[in-house]
Amino acid sequence: MLIGGLNGHICENCVEQAYEIIHEELFDKEDSKDPNFKLPENFTPKGIKKFLDEYVIGQDDAKKVIAVAVYNHYKRLNAPSQTDVEIEKSNVVLAGNTGTGKTLVAKCIARLLNVPFAIVDATVFTEAGYVGEDVESILTRLLQVCDYDVAKAEKGIVYIDEIDKIARKSDNPSITRDVSGEGVQQALLKMLEGTDVNVPPHGGRKHPEQKLIKVNTTNILFICGGAFDGLEKIIARRLNTQVIGYNSGTHAKIEDKNMLKYLIHSDLKSFGLIPELLGRLPVITHMEPLDLKTLERILVEPKNAVIKQFKRLFELEGVELKYTAGALSYIAEKALDYKLGARGLRSICEAVLNDAMYEMPSDKSIKVLELDKRYVKEKLEKSNLSFLKVA
Ligand code: ADP
Repeated sequence: MLIGGLNGHICENCVEQAYEIIHEELFDKEDSKDPNFKLPENFTPKGIKKFLDEYVIGQDDAKKVIAVAVYNHYKRLNAPSQTDVEIEKSNVVLAGNTGTGKTLVAKCIARLLNVPFAIVDATVFTEAGYVGEDVESILTRLLQVCDYDVAKAEKGIVYIDEIDKIARKSDNPSITRDVSGEGVQQALLKMLEGTDVNVPPHGGRKHPEQKLIKVNTTNILFICGGAFDGLEKIIARRLNTQVIGYNSGTHAKIEDKNMLKYLIHSDLKSFGLIPELLGRLPVITHMEPLDLKTLERILVEPKNAVIKQFKRLFELEGVELKYTAGALSYIAEKALDYKLGARGLRSICEAVLNDAMYEMPSDKSIKVLELDKRYVKEKLEKSNLSFLKVA
């Protein structure tokens, strides 16, 4: 067959050949390594963990698992295409109480790799057609982070927080549809696995005229975090053991609480995540509850530790902030009491240092502020935070 143009004709064989040449030139090159995407120098699982160690205290298991997952993910990205073995994605589930560093780990990974990183909250999603957001808006966020550079977004990392909130409500199919639980899980399936998704660039459904942007999610790494309240009981039931002191608030028993260590996929299924979704989240890990020692270290060790920040603030005022080990452990103890996780450390330090920060700028005679246990205790008892104390 000859196809006519303005000044000549082309035969069907030539069309086919030309198509192949174009495909080879354009797409196979695109598949191979993107020249703008450079992995950091020391890019090994050990290197990644070392980087995480600078910011995240403890949580060694989770850090190792994530380091390997991220390493494999980017190895897969940079592997030459068209090999007979196709390596699948290693999306991650991260279970752990609030304030134990789930978001922090994900953020650090994104900083290390210098890739676009978006945090989204699973609680706002509903099945398409219902009040709430569609799951496609996850990718809208990612696109916004990298200024709508689709190629960049396609290599990004998405952290889906509160994944436990879209668990199926119960096994009992009730009269109402479960549009924010199971419906959302169904909608997420394809996206997690890797497919072309049509993304509304401004999100939502308010602009029906907006042109959709096609984003391929094959190379986007999804990390799903959640507190999974009640999961320990499910694990304990499976292990047929009693969680001793589960309801007790004392610190010594915290270790008993850490049933998450034994977490496997079937527990998440019992929790209410559908098996299809779990199949697309092959890597599973947990965060340890923070104990007293870890909280003390979090106060001073990470690169942007709370105490380091306050030290710097005081330094700008010409005051040296000193602290004793007793003060640190008292603050950590209180954070445990208040059950705020590591987030509480900052609120406590703010409450303790507020008076000093109020006085100091107008009183230039003070050159040194020494935080000891007595000072911390006195200030904390005066503050509203002491009402937080759980009985
Ligand atoms: P969540 O697990 O609820 O996502 P985040 O990661 O947001 O908790 O943690 C809240 C804050 O607590 C972080 O910004 C960080 O400052 C601090 N934090 C929590 N866990 C750790 C940890 N293991 N090491 C250092 N800082 C931590």
